[in-house]
Amino acid sequence: MKILNPATGDVFREIQEDDEGGILKKYQVLREGQKGWKARSLDERIAAVGRFGELLEKEREELEKTLSLEVGKPLRESGNEIAGAVGRIRFFLQNSKKHLAALQVNEAAGPPATREVLDFEPLGVIGNISAWNYPYLIAMNVLVPALIAGNAVLYKPSEFSTLTGLHIQRLLFKAGVPEDAFQAVIGEGAAGRAMLKLPLDGYFFTGSYATGRAIAAALAGRLVPVTLELGGKDPLYVMEDVDVAKAAANAVEGVFYNAGQSCCAVERIYVHEKIYEPFVKAFVEETKKLKMGDPFDPQTTLGPVTRQAHLQHLVRQVKDAVDRRAKLLTGGKRVTGKGHFFEPTVLAEVDHTMSVMKEESFGPVIGIQKVKDDEEALKLMADTDYGLTAAVFSKSEERAKKILEQLDVGTGYWNCCDRVSPWLPWSGRKNSGLGTTLSYLGIQAFVKPKGYHLRA
Ligand code: NAD
Repeated sequence: MKILNPATGDVFREIQEDDEGGILKKYQVLREGQKGWKARSLDERIAAVGRFGELLEKEREELEKTLSLEVGKPLRESGNEIAGAVGRIRFFLQNSKKHLAALQVNEAAGPPATREVLDFEPLGVIGNISAWNYPYLIAMNVLVPALIAGNAVLYKPSEFSTLTGLHIQRLLFKAGVPEDAFQAVIGEGAAGRAMLKLPLDGYFFTGSYATGRAIAAALAGRLVPVTLELGGKDPLYVMEDVDVAKAAANAVEGVFYNAGQSCCAVERIYVHEKIYEPFVKAFVEETKKLKMGDPFDPQTTLGPVTRQAHLQHLVRQVKDAVDRRAKLLTGGKRVTGKGHFFEPTVLAEVDHTMSVMKEESFGPVIGIQKVKDDEEALKLMADTDYGLTAAVFSKSEERAKKILEQLDVGTGYWNCCDRVSPWLPWSGRKNSGLGTTLSYLGIQAFVKPKGYHLRA
């Protein structure tokens, strides 16, 4: 498998993929090893994961370089991601015990009296098929609570973040997670498909809707838990009572951070007609301040798009919008020369006949649409097959809440966007996914309950 630098387009490493036989062997090792890992005390497993977090911090400089090299994100953003991953680990270290502890929930009167106890057991050997856009963050959502709960994990990093996946494996081993409790699978889609054939006890997938749907179809009839964290087309509505300059600056960050390659990036903007013109002007000015270039240059705020093949999608989306009379205000093109760069692109006078307002862009492209009131904004925000997040910028919490409550999304933002907290559940609705990671629900996602009826 070739490993490419998206900033130059050059192959800088070649690496051996796992074949189906090799993946089966890794699974068999884990099946045996999980028993021993589960038998260790919760404190021991928490301590090993804690050491892993410390190693991430200690080796952060090297890790962020590898991450920027293989996915192309600016070095500062790679550093932010690793710091965020350490924060998520800390949440699991501090909260797992409480949410995994057996609980006497009732004592039924006798005689004989019956103690009713709710306990939790690990799922067993779970599969994690992962994406490349935040390879540390999205891996931590799964690996950390899964290992703490006593599961063994067969983990396939995306083929676009393989070296980061191997770093994660190396540091878990160094921290004391045994090799028969964790194994990385190296490969592309075929390796993911091979994992679906194994009798794993749960599947945790992060990636596109198309692949998520294929996975759900392949596993249908298999009565195993499946969690799917998929794409989005997340809306932002800017009301007329905001500070326009501040709102525009926040929106630009929400759209273009990580070159727009965030599952919860702002993907479409609706602006109240009273401030539409000044907002669009301020938004374009902010966008023009972005510095596109080498991820290793500290001035860079916009790196390349990670996957070369995706550039075509962005080109098509811009053309479709312009052909349907959208106004291209800045950007719009692939940058010629080396690397997979796409100009930060702002389209105005868009509508819902255009792909840019309906299909996930997952790149530095945004459409801004004028609305006359909250009712029209709500109608347009709800007009989507996705349901990951939605944001409202306004002085009024009440008006914002009224809209967010009516949307079928897993996360609502008032005066913020593109934000994930380990304390809150991360879950998509409709085509954005199934199931939950993070929060205490994301701790309990990796265990199965057992009820005990106990009579002395
Ligand atoms: P992808 O679907 O192309 O690939 C994801 C993973 O699936 C990779 O490891 C890939 O090798 C594997 N895979 C591909 N085909 C497979 C198959 N048929 N069976 C099993 N595995 C297969 O997605 P991607 O490009 O890595 O990630 C981008 C997508 O992920 C975007 O849509 C983004 O919104 C979404 N995402 C969602 C979240 C979330 O939390 N909801 C987080 C990050 C990314």
